[in-house]
Amino acid sequence: QCPWGAPNATSISCSLADVMSEQLAKELQLEEENAAFPEVVAVDEGPFITGENVDTSSDLMLAQMLQMEFDREYDAQLRREEKKINGDSKVSISFENYRKVHPYDSDSSEDEVDWQDTRHDPYRADKPTTTPRRGFVGKGKDITTKHDEVVCGRKNTARMENFAPEFQVGDGIGMDLKLSNQVFNALKQHAYSEERRSARLHEKKEHSTAEKAVDPKTRLLLYKMVNAGMLETITGCISTGKESVVFHAYGGNATEDKVIPPECAIKVFKTTLNEFKNRDKYIKDDYRFKDRFSKLNPRKIIRMWAEKEMHNLTRMQNAGIPCPQVVSLKKHVLVMSFIGQDQVPAPKLKDVTLSSEDMKKAYYQILNMMQQLYKECNLVHADLSEYNMLWHDGKVWLIDVSQSVEPTHPHGLEFLFRDCRNVSQFFQKAGVPEALNERELFNAVSGLNITAENEVDFQAEIEALEKMNEDHVQNLGKKLSMFSSDGDPPIYDE
Ligand code: ADP
Ligand code: MN
Repeated sequence: QCPWGAPNATSISCSLADVMSEQLAKELQLEEENAAFPEVVAVDEGPFITGENVDTSSDLMLAQMLQMEFDREYDAQLRREEKKINGDSKVSISFENYRKVHPYDSDSSEDEVDWQDTRHDPYRADKPTTTPRRGFVGKGKDITTKHDEVVCGRKNTARMENFAPEFQVGDGIGMDLKLSNQVFNALKQHAYSEERRSARLHEKKEHSTAEKAVDPKTRLLLYKMVNAGMLETITGCISTGKESVVFHAYGGNATEDKVIPPECAIKVFKTTLNEFKNRDKYIKDDYRFKDRFSKLNPRKIIRMWAEKEMHNLTRMQNAGIPCPQVVSLKKHVLVMSFIGQDQVPAPKLKDVTLSSEDMKKAYYQILNMMQQLYKECNLVHADLSEYNMLWHDGKVWLIDVSQSVEPTHPHGLEFLFRDCRNVSQFFQKAGVPEALNERELFNAVSGLNITAENEVDFQAEIEALEKMNEDHVQNLGKKLSMFSSDGDPPIYDE
């Protein structure tokens, strides 16, 4: 006999139905879970979990690995939540900005230090509690000095609250944790740079999308052009520069007064304003825009760049200089004929390999064009170089004339001299022995006869001439009306 009494051998009765329904429930649950998170991204197993080749002797390394592990799990969870919330909805929300692990950003590591924000530092306690001059507070045996480790440590811990809200400091604040100054400072530094890094990342993202696609207002303008039948299709982007984005488009139907070229280039002047600030001088001193400039907001100034390019192109067209033909101007969007064929833009002079014969031909053509531009169009290109000359159909085409000014512009002759220098240097390097030097070229184009033998004197004379002209203009007062001689108004006007 068993001293503990007979074992209760009766087995728990369990019906088959119960077991089956439990199993069914489990399966259903699993199915449901799978449906909710179809492809739950498995949390990557870091080195810590696999335990391979792990040096466990460094606390720092261990801490970093744990943090990485934590961040990864956090992100995975975030992704799951995002998925769950969005479901099949067409409108989805993104938790991207809450992620911990930033996609590695290789080119920002070196600018970690080159950007110093001098604005208000949110981490600096508003008014640091100072220890009085004598270096201690309290009396007798309650004395604590500013070096008291416990006080300092607690203070440091409390100051962690000043870190940016998204910087997780853990549960240290709630505990009686004493952070040494060294640790606290390192943490503070880290919190600071993390926040900036994350801000930069988001900024970059926004910036790059703004660069690739145009902003909604511009898109609407482009859409209207297609809708009105002026353009057939906009195929893609040819170039993104600092100041403009250029697209290719197939031309649409001709209207009564305008033949649309089969292929068009659309130059969208960027409405991001910062790049334009340093170009003010081109337009501010241009008498054609003088009365309008001061009253304008930056967005209107950018439209003026487009307008300026249109007027300048029209002048060139009238003088027979090979250049894009203006099709339409609407706000900051200029449509012109495309130089190139089948969506392939003509190469820039800097990219094309020409026979020495063609090179020589190109040189004389440019010399000619510069003279025509100056004398017949009354213009100085002001950004003339192998970058803004295209080689097409066996000749050179001039583009990019939004910054071109009249020779009497207060800096017009300086701009011309710079153009001449670019052209001379390019063709001398390209092996055209006939190429004039920059001073000879300047005289040949302007018809002036500056005899200075060296560059410094030459430039001094140029500036003296500009000064003289400016005084002259001041005395005469401006009597010229704006745009009087410029061609057709744009067909798409407000
Ligand atoms: P940015 O001021 O940005 O330099 P550009 O007018 O020079 O603007 O245009 C940028 C690039 O776009 C040019 O280098 C050229 O390759 C291309 N491009 C501009 N206009 C045309 C055009 N009408 N036909 C073909 N390509 C063009
Ligand atoms: Mn250009």
